[in-house]
Amino acid sequence: MDIDELASRILNCDRRALARAITLVESGREDHRAQAVALLDRLAGSGRQALRIGLSGTPGVGKSTFIESFGMMLTGQGLRVAVLAVDPSSARSGGSILGDKTRMERLARDPNAFIRPSPSQTALGGVARRTRDAVALCEAAGFDVVLIETVGVGQSETMVAEMADLFILLLAPAGGDELQGVKRGIMEMADIILVNKADGDLKSAAMRTCADYAGALHLLRRRPQDPDGFPKAMTVSAMQEEGLAKAWDEMTVLADWRREQGFFTARRAEQAQHWFDEEVRLGLLARLERDPAVKARMRELGSHVARGETSVSGAVAQMLAELSVGRDQN
Ligand code: GDP
Repeated sequence: MDIDELASRILNCDRRALARAITLVESGREDHRAQAVALLDRLAGSGRQALRIGLSGTPGVGKSTFIESFGMMLTGQGLRVAVLAVDPSSARSGGSILGDKTRMERLARDPNAFIRPSPSQTALGGVARRTRDAVALCEAAGFDVVLIETVGVGQSETMVAEMADLFILLLAPAGGDELQGVKRGIMEMADIILVNKADGDLKSAAMRTCADYAGALHLLRRRPQDPDGFPKAMTVSAMQEEGLAKAWDEMTVLADWRREQGFFTARRAEQAQHWFDEEVRLGLLARLERDPAVKARMRELGSHVARGETSVSGAVAQMLAELSVGRDQN
């Protein structure tokens, strides 16, 4: 594969080249990895920056419906929109629910949009790296907005929030009057909560839910990266395409404010640092796990621990001491 050619096609906003490049960064093969790194290095200086929007919500709240109508609204304004899906459950099932081809059909046909389903069969750490690389490729390809979609399970929100400029939580109208068991940690990450399905019979429930969340957000500690009034809760109807322009206005207001105040760049720098640390840590672990001598020694010490001959702490200290001796000798 000619990396120079691929790079220049991506810079020319060629969607097929972009799709190919994402396949390359998703590959587990070592030679592919080297090519991917060369490509990402080549593109790093493009200077192009998209607004990265993380979007989370449990299955059924209307994420695909929202992304399709929201995405179509943005492309209608002349913006180029990329959608990346992060679905950790696909790592287990081997197939991606977010990758279903029938989702977002209209948006998928839009020449100003690009939709990429979740890579399957990878650990969350692998998904994180691949998604970050894919975001970087979409930015180099000149997309204005990159939507990173995730299902509301486990650690995937934290991961997506760590690579997004804005984090949006999509909720459905609640039947009862309690706060739907949304974890506090996830609420604290949200910049904007959108209560979807505010239409027809569900409209009044949606408005009540929205008021409840607005109240709950009000009680959270004020974050320095927020102007007055944020984080906020709003209602939308993805199906009726209502409230979408208002939601986009709020996102733009927030992003612009953060840019002006320096939070935007500072946050990206922090995120880059975080991912660097994380990748080095993962890389070191992977290297250790590939080393047969280390593996054998770990098994050996592990069985001592299992038989109660050594304490866990003692065996760990021993293992780490041996590893640093090994490193000093290399
Ligand atoms: P996802 O699993 O989060 O991607 O949710 P989907 O977009 O597939 O939507 C789940 C269901 O909710 C579908 O039956 C949609 O038609 C419905 N839905 C999505 N958005 C709305 C909306 O704004 N109003 C109403 N009434 N239903 C909606």
